[in-house]
Amino acid sequence: MNDLSQHPLQALRTPADSEGAAALRKEEHVGSVIDALGRQKQTLSTRRNLLGSALRLTRGMSPKLIAMVDECRETLGIEIPTELYVFSNPQFNAFCIKPEDGRLFLGFTSAIIEKFSLDELKFVLGHEFGHYLFEHHDIPIGVIMKSQPRPSPQLALKLFAWSRAAEISADRAGALCSKNLDAVASSMFKLASGVTSDLIQIEIDDFVEQLEAMQKEGENSKGETRADWFSTHPFSPLRLRALQLTFESEVLGASSLKRDVLESEIANLLGLMSQNYLQEKSTSAEALRRFLFAASISVGQASGTFSAKEQKAFEDFFGEGSYQESIDEDRLLQDLERRAKEVLEHAKKSRIEEMFRDLTIIARADSKLQTKERLELQRCADLLGLGADLAERLIQSTAALD
Ligand SMILES: [Zn+2]
Repeated sequence: MNDLSQHPLQALRTPADSEGAAALRKEEHVGSVIDALGRQKQTLSTRRNLLGSALRLTRGMSPKLIAMVDECRETLGIEIPTELYVFSNPQFNAFCIKPEDGRLFLGFTSAIIEKFSLDELKFVLGHEFGHYLFEHHDIPIGVIMKSQPRPSPQLALKLFAWSRAAEISADRAGALCSKNLDAVASSMFKLASGVTSDLIQIEIDDFVEQLEAMQKEGENSKGETRADWFSTHPFSPLRLRALQLTFESEVLGASSLKRDVLESEIANLLGLMSQNYLQEKSTSAEALRRFLFAASISVGQASGTFSAKEQKAFEDFFGEGSYQESIDEDRLLQDLERRAKEVLEHAKKSRIEEMFRDLTIIARADSKLQTKERLELQRCADLLGLGADLAERLIQSTAALD
């Protein structure tokens, strides 16, 4: 098989993707999961499963779609043979499966084929090819998150951050195939909203403005905010903003943005999603850490004891030796409400959510969340003014750790 690491389009990747992937491979936990997968006997069942459950699109059945695949392969310099499948599903989605037996498998849902134009599909297909080209499948994030023992919270955060950067890289491959920012934007809009009606005109700038609106909300509202920032996929206005910049840059042959300027803009955008209060020296970061410290112990204790695994997760956040038996737990617990007030006084809402999400990671460190732990998490959310719905979504957002 040809060596993808030498492919000229590797240069398209965002630094946070290529450097993040290299750093992750060096993590012992990641390495051991990859090694274990490599030792498993290859069953080569993908093709059989696809042939049994989906429809393989041939040139005779769909000359236009196969011509589109050919065109994207040509643009991206993809050499491996590909097969395209469609399966019945009402969601707008596409997939690309790590090659088996020298074949790469791509798939579209029936809904996306019916409702997307060819130019829009080209972006989606290019994005999927991007995941293959940049070897994103080699770090199987889902398998790592479910592995035993569980990845540490810090590793989980690194995996999520890398995965978001990888999506931005894959989008660039999609942009290269589509070459049409309007088609990219409408594709992104349809994916995000599910709406395909003519009643809605896509205004790229308005859509991107949602990013700024959302940031403002994060700073001062009590309403719904950025729970989806915590997912592995960067949310779509951010992706579209990144694409808009990419189209203006030398990456796609335009002249207004130099590559290094583009990358620093993208790093800023990605940074919005992972501001780190754990290291920062500021009153607000300090208040957040102090609350997290006391709350992790109070949630851990809700289930009886603050278990060894919870203590380990706790130390992953606060540093080795930070948890000691001598910590006066009763006093800490009494101090929780005062610490919450400090947080509310100094920290932005978006960062409070981020800290609360970290609290749920610590709480999940030993096992599934127990009812008492869940109740204590809800009480903490209450003290932080997060609202029950948002708290529940944040708790759910780390459920992959279960
Ligand atoms: Zn993707």
